[in-house]
Parts: sequence; C-alpha cells; structure tokens
Amino acid sequence: MSAPKRPSRFRLDPAIRPEEYDLHLEPDLTNGTFRGKVRIELGLTAPRSAITVHAADLEVTRATVASKGEVQELRVKRQRADEAVTLVARRPLHDRAVVSLEFTGRLGAHLRGFYAATADGRRYAFTQLEAADARRMFPCFDEPSFKARFRIAVTTTEDNAVISNGAVDSDEKHGDGRRTVHFVKTPKLSTYLLALAVGPLEPSSVRRLGPTEIRVWHVPGKCRLSEFGLEAAVQALSRLEDYFDIPYPYGKLDLVAVPDFEAGAMENAGAVFFRETLLLLDPATASLPERKRAAEVIAHELAHMWYGDLVTMAWWDDLWLNEAFATWMAYKVVDDWKPEWRMWQGYEHDRAGALALDALANTHPIYAPVRSVAEATENFDAITYEKGAAVVRMLEHYLGADTFRAGVRTYMRRHREQNAVAADLWRALEEASGREVSRVAQAWIEKAGFPLVSLRRDGGTKLRVRQERFFSDPRVSSARRRTSWPLPLVVKRPGADGDEVDRFLVDGSSRAVRLGTRRSPPWLYGNASAGGFYRVFHQPSDHSSLVTSLGRVLSPVERLALVGDQWALVRAARAKVEGFLDVADGLGGETDYDVLDGVAGPLGVLDDQIVEGDLQRWLRSWITGLFGGQLRALGWTARPDEDDRQRLRRAALLRLVGSIAEAPDVVAEASARLDGYLVDRSSLEPNLADAVVSISARQGHEGLYERYRELTASAPTPQERRRFLLNLASFRAPSLIERTLHATLEAEVPTQDVAFIYMRLFANPGGREAAWQFFSRNWKRLRTRIPPLMVSRLVESTPVLRDPRYAREVARFFRLHPIPEATRSLKQALEMFRLNAELRRRIVPGIARWAKRRGRGETAHVVAG
Ligand SMILES: [Zn+2]
Repeated sequence: MSAPKRPSRFRLDPAIRPEEYDLHLEPDLTNGTFRGKVRIELGLTAPRSAITVHAADLEVTRATVASKGEVQELRVKRQRADEAVTLVARRPLHDRAVVSLEFTGRLGAHLRGFYAATADGRRYAFTQLEAADARRMFPCFDEPSFKARFRIAVTTTEDNAVISNGAVDSDEKHGDGRRTVHFVKTPKLSTYLLALAVGPLEPSSVRRLGPTEIRVWHVPGKCRLSEFGLEAAVQALSRLEDYFDIPYPYGKLDLVAVPDFEAGAMENAGAVFFRETLLLLDPATASLPERKRAAEVIAHELAHMWYGDLVTMAWWDDLWLNEAFATWMAYKVVDDWKPEWRMWQGYEHDRAGALALDALANTHPIYAPVRSVAEATENFDAITYEKGAAVVRMLEHYLGADTFRAGVRTYMRRHREQNAVAADLWRALEEASGREVSRVAQAWIEKAGFPLVSLRRDGGTKLRVRQERFFSDPRVSSARRRTSWPLPLVVKRPGADGDEVDRFLVDGSSRAVRLGTRRSPPWLYGNASAGGFYRVFHQPSDHSSLVTSLGRVLSPVERLALVGDQWALVRAARAKVEGFLDVADGLGGETDYDVLDGVAGPLGVLDDQIVEGDLQRWLRSWITGLFGGQLRALGWTARPDEDDRQRLRRAALLRLVGSIAEAPDVVAEASARLDGYLVDRSSLEPNLADAVVSISARQGHEGLYERYRELTASAPTPQERRRFLLNLASFRAPSLIERTLHATLEAEVPTQDVAFIYMRLFANPGGREAAWQFFSRNWKRLRTRIPPLMVSRLVESTPVLRDPRYAREVARFFRLHPIPEATRSLKQALEMFRLNAELRRRIVPGIARWAKRRGRGETAHVVAG
C-alpha cells in the first residue's frame, strides 16, 4: 500500500496554474509497467523557482522547463508523504513556462490510479482517478480546481483497443506490432475525470443522438448484452440535454464495461466506466431491480457530464453538490422514461438508509470540511448521496419544478468549464425564485442529523409542531437534541373531495400552525409522499387511526415511511416494540412490494440481531403465518400476462417467508426450483432467482457448492456470475465457509468482489466467527484486495457480527491497523454495536410479551390477494 499512514493536508500553490497538458503513455500490459512523457503549459501569477506537482509511486527520470526562450534542467525533490515532487529551477520563472517530464510507473493492483486487470486470461489496463489518483498515472496538478485541456496519446500493441475522453484523432501504426492512438484535445477538465482503457475490448454498434455517437465497450463475446445500456443512455442523454438546455459537451460518448472495478461507475468525461453488472445485461433473464439499478446508474453518470464535469466543485468539501444532484437527477430522468417503475417509491429505501445513518451520533453534515484526500474518500456515503438527494428534492418541491430548473440552467451557463461552490447554486435559485434559498438549504447542508417532528392537535384545526434532533441512541442528552431546522412540512389529511395537503415552512423548536380546513380532520399524516427528510411522531390517536386504516388512507410510499418511522422510534426508545409489531401485524394483507420490502428490513434485524431460541422460532412462525398465505395464493409461477408489481410482490414474499423465516416448505420448494433453474434458466421467474440461489445455498452440500463455482466461471451474464459468486458465501457448512475464505485470497474472486463476500460471510450465522478470524489473520494480504471505498463499507457491516465481544475485537483490530479512509465508518460501526446490544436488552421482553398475548404460533391470517 502506498497510502501514507498520516493523511497529508498538503495543497498545491494557487499561483501556478496548468493550462494544457500533452500526455503520452506507453503501458506494458505483460510486465505491468508503464512509461510516459508529459508536457505541461503553465501560467504563473507570481515568480517561482520551485514548482510542486502531485506524483505518487512514479519515478521522474527527466525534468526540464522552458521559459522566455530558455531551457533549464530541473532538480527533482521527492515529497513522499505529500504524494508530490518539487521541481527546482536554477533561476525563477515568470508568467509562462512549459515543464516537460519523463517518468515510469507500475500499473496498480488495487483498482486505483492506472491499474492492471485480467478477464478470461486477457490483460487490460484501466484508470480510476477520483478522488486523487491521477497522480499515480502522471505528474499533474491533482486538485479539482486546476482544470486544463488535455491532449492524450497512447502507444500499445496493435491488438489492443484504446479509449479515452476524446474521440480518436489519428491512429499511427509503427510497423513493429505497435500503434499510437492520438485523441483530440479535451475541453477543460479536472484531472480526476481523465480516463484510459487499454486492452482487447470490443465496441457495440453505434447509436446516435443528434451529433453524439454512443458506444458500449466490453470484453470479447459480450456484444449481445449491450442493447439495454445503449437504450438507457440515449433515453437519459436526451432528457438531460433538455433539462440543462446545453447540448452534451464531450463530442462522443463511450460507455465502458470494466471487468474489475471498485466503484459502481465513474463519470469520466466522454468515457464513462461501469462495473459490468451495471452496464451489460440480458433483458430476458435480468430481474427488474437489476434493470432499474443499471438504468439509474447510467442516468446518474450521464447527469454528471453536466453536473460535476462541466461545472465542477472547487474542492472536495462540495462533493455532495455533484453526488446529491446526480442521484436526484437520475431518479427524475428514469422516472420520466419508465413511469411504471415507480422510481420515487423505490427511492424511499435509499432515504431510509440515509435516515438510519444520519441518526447516529457519529454522522456528519452533508457539507463537511475536507482537509485531506482520505477525508474526501470518506465522504462517499449515504449522507452525501441519498440525504443530499433528499435535500435537493425538498428544495425542488419548495420552489416548484420549473423555477428550480430555471435556477439550475442559470448556474450551469454561468459556471460552465469552471468550478463552483454551493453558494453559487443558491444564488442562482434565489434569482430564479425570488425566495430565500440560502438559509433553508444551508441549514440542511451544514447541520448534521435531521428533525424528529412531533405533531399534536391543539384544539380544532390548530396543530402544534415541535422539532428536535433525532438520535438512535436513547442516552443522548436533551441538550444535544435541542435544535431546529427551517422545516418544509407537508401534512396530508382528508378533504371534501379526496385527500388534501397543507404546506408550511416551520421555524423554531415549537410552532402552532393552522390546517387549511374548517373542521378537525379525523386523521392526518405528517410527511405527505414521504417527501421530507425527517421522521414523524404522531399523537397516539392519530397514530392509531393511521394504523387501523393503513391501506385506505396512506399511499404505498407513505406506508413504507410510517413503518420506517415506527421502527426508528423503537430503536430510539421513543416507542414500544409492541407498537411496531402491531403495525407489522396489520400488513399481512399488504400487496405493495415496496412496503413488503420495507417491513422485511426490520423483521430481518429482529430475527438476526435481536431474538434467539424459542423466541426466534416464534418470530419465524409469526412471519410465516402473516405472509405465507399470500405467497401460496400467488404461487411460484408467473402467469404470462402478469405485471411487474405481482412479480416483485412474489419476490418480496419469498424473501420474508423463505429468506427470513426459513419456512421449511418454502425452503424445500426453493431447492426443488433451483434444480430446474440450474438446467434451464427460463424455468424460474427472473425476480426469484436471487432468493432461490441464496436460500438453497444455506443447507447446500459440497456438490452444490462445486456447481455454483462452475456457474460463476461459465455464467453468460454478469448478473448471473455475481449471483453465484456472492452466494458461495451463503453456504453454512464449516468446510465450505473455509473454502470461500481461502478463495478471497486468490484471483478466483476478483478484487472488486472481495469485500462483498466478507459482508455476506459476516451476515451468515454459520460463517461469522470463522470469517472474522480469517479476515483479521490475513489482513496483510487482504488489504491489497480491498480498495479504500470498499474497506469503509466492510467496516460499516461489522455490527452484523452481533456478539458484543466482536465490538471489542473490531475496535482493537482497527486500532492496530488504522485505515484513514474508514475512520468515521469505524466510529459508526462501534456505535451500532453498542446500540444493538442496548436494543436487545430493552425490547426482547416486549417481544416475548407480545408473542404471548398473540398466542404462540396461532397467527394464521386470512389474506387478500
Ligand atoms: Zn456520482
């Protein structure tokens, strides 16, 4: 590992600015090395005799500078801890200078910088440069505000394709089996957006949108999987051009399916890179969630072509501005393309994840000061993406969609090919709307956490609104909770003709508002369409009216939010677990798949983290009684005319009754269906494949394990490959867990998937202990197989280990082996360990009481189809 132990806070000298780079690289895929030359045209606003540029793990072999007609040799001083080199001239440089450097490096093994990857025995090199790894590819000014134009050329063997940000300008054959591909000069870009892919990649056919040529690139033999990605890209790009009112800025658009990739995808200008699962798919066998996710990620990256690439944050502290906006925009774009996918309802699961993380004492504001690269990397989390998107969405609702878009267009036009800060966006939105945006937005962006909003009837139509900060930890002092937000509150209630909403902007910790009706409504719900980033605490009479008539008064997304709020209130000791069980008990007839998935979350936690022994057996039989009838009535086979809602409902029920409750007849049926599926993939409804493959693995023996391994190697689609690979971690037999653990050290598990395998093993009740032991013993080798972003996710997942003694082991282990990028994740994980232990102590007696009251096992429900 080359990351320094102590994160450097070094920043480059703003008096020296790069204007244009001429970069030539020659990678040697066989030996895993590269050499390069770079010529950087500089503008200096003050005289300087030393120029510091970023360079990490590079050997600078030659350095000269030309200025005012004079060429000088430069002395190269390494600054290892700052990932930089200082180039020292004999005489000071003024105004303009051209630095020329020659250098060598090794292709990375860690999915960062300019790195090596193999697939099916073929060698490739790819880049992943965000946040600050361009410095591993060439010496450069590796901060987002140093935008410059790039002229890139690559020399490689003739059988390799080369893809970069620009279109190919010329392709020069050397006659010795090598070629040099020259790309056209780019518009102004930050270094983290550069891209290079080298290797035997193949292009799809070309799709055109106006003047833009769009291609999907993939490893050989996957051409038939590119049609969906092309279509999703065309659909997204046309909507984005329209929204921003600026044509796509980067000429051609290449979408590259990278066989080993850390992130989900990366918005390199004009050459977007993806994990294969998010770009290449077969619509006949992919599940709907797989298609939705791919479309959403494609739209997200393409939104970045404007928001992030064309207008870039000045520094990493405003990363949220890129990510929140792209996340929100992607849902908007895909929702417009495929309204039947109900994207915003699905977004509720993401909002729930962000609310859960943001309820921890160790959360962070969306806007966080960033002093080092490690801190920048830490910020790629649900707060930046999902809470950020929720706040953008809240602002759009508050200002109105057309006004909001007008403000965004002004902002884009004003700052194109430059950098911007959040205040620039607020200003543009204020100009467009004539309303105060800064104060509202700033409060949500700069303050950690979110409000718990209590609603109490204050006689007639008056409503008393109280807010305080919500914490999952019941022990947090009331002083820390005492704070408020400018709160866009939207209350839903029955009106004369159907439901109506009242909108308020509530300031301060306690305010009275008047509902827009003359009579006191029989019920009200405090977060209409779940559009606000807050949780609601209704007074008991309103709560019970909502619970007794859930399906009639609340839309699916509101039911989903209510379930989430109720569970969060239990966690925070603001409500009894019996109340949550009452809510869940009322959902036996629930037919909306998103709501079923929403209740599966807390029920899974109860089963895996809270109860054991007899109480677990009771819980499982109660879940089976509640949802099993619905699954039986629906059957396992989809009728040809069945719509996606029914198909996804079946899948959600299978997760509840099969994956969580492990109902024996359902587990047996899953295994029987698996046999058919392994022979003929079309024998199983695609949305059931994940659950069937995972449920069957749990009791599976060596024969089945071998089968999964073979299928991982021979899978015709990336989704199927991922399904069989990750479910190697679902087997519970100790010998098979041992085999999976050893495989994580070998190329059999690609670097991009190692962390996911461990997350699954930690969650596997039969594999936890062994997985943690193996992980901590083999850390040195695993560290090179788990890239930084993934380490954070992995650390975050450790609380599923459940036993409090692991909390001590995890804390001790990461104290001995510190990971700067995962500092906050570690604090969050330890907090979760503690909260889960406290929750167990507090709610188990309540669950037992509720179970007794219900009569053990007597929970057969009559279910409406
Ligand atoms: Zn993004």
